[in-house]
Amino acid sequence: MSETKKNVDKKGSRDMDEIAKTLFAPVYPVIAENIIRRLGITTGTCVDIGSGPASLAIAVARQSNLSIIALDYSDDMHDAAARNINEAGLSDRIHLLCGDVHAIPLDDDSADLIISRGSMHFWDDIRTAFREIYRILKPGGKTYIGAGFGNKELRDEIYITKNKANPDWKEFSRKTFSPENVERFRTMLDEIGVPEYEIILGDEGLWIVLSKTKPGAL
Ligand code: SAM
Repeated sequence: MSETKKNVDKKGSRDMDEIAKTLFAPVYPVIAENIIRRLGITTGTCVDIGSGPASLAIAVARQSNLSIIALDYSDDMHDAAARNINEAGLSDRIHLLCGDVHAIPLDDDSADLIISRGSMHFWDDIRTAFREIYRILKPGGKTYIGAGFGNKELRDEIYITKNKANPDWKEFSRKTFSPENVERFRTMLDEIGVPEYEIILGDEGLWIVLSKTKPGAL
């Protein structure tokens, strides 16, 4: 990792940890609930990609019996995550793994559930990332990968604060949660040959649910 990226990460991880504990705090339990209600996977291995301060991993652990791998390429994010996991008393259920989504250091067909929130718009090569995600998914497993705030009330509340703080936010969120973006992901998933998927666009956000029926990679 370059020196520049490390420096950006130090401030970035402090800011992310801060917002995850304040403005975004109520969204994680709601997203965890959405994941479990939609996919019904509550046991086995879950991988949270771009887990940051581990707020989603913690919320999912609290609502399930899943053993969770919190994967992130930033050491600084992992420092914050380690503190939060420890404070939550979940060190036996959530394990940190340093790694990049473009070359995930996990075996083929090893994850029952793969989740990721607010990370994919940072990925350099979305095709490679999704091939890797598909590779580590177990047959019968599912993903919930995307962006969002869980429900309409939380989304509307967060938009008011974000629009005030950052004039670019409106355009960023309009583009992120748009039918055009869904089409872009659909084209990408068809091009790499994912056989079965659903893209959710609604009050809960934009989420990509991949399913895997046969073992192996694409
Ligand atoms: N998922 C967390 C949440 O919702 O609170 C954190 C979201 S934060 C905006 C994005 C995270 O993705 C950061 O922790 C960043 O280090 C991680 N990330 C970005 N690109 C990555 C990559 N290529 N591989 C692994 N992690 C990555």
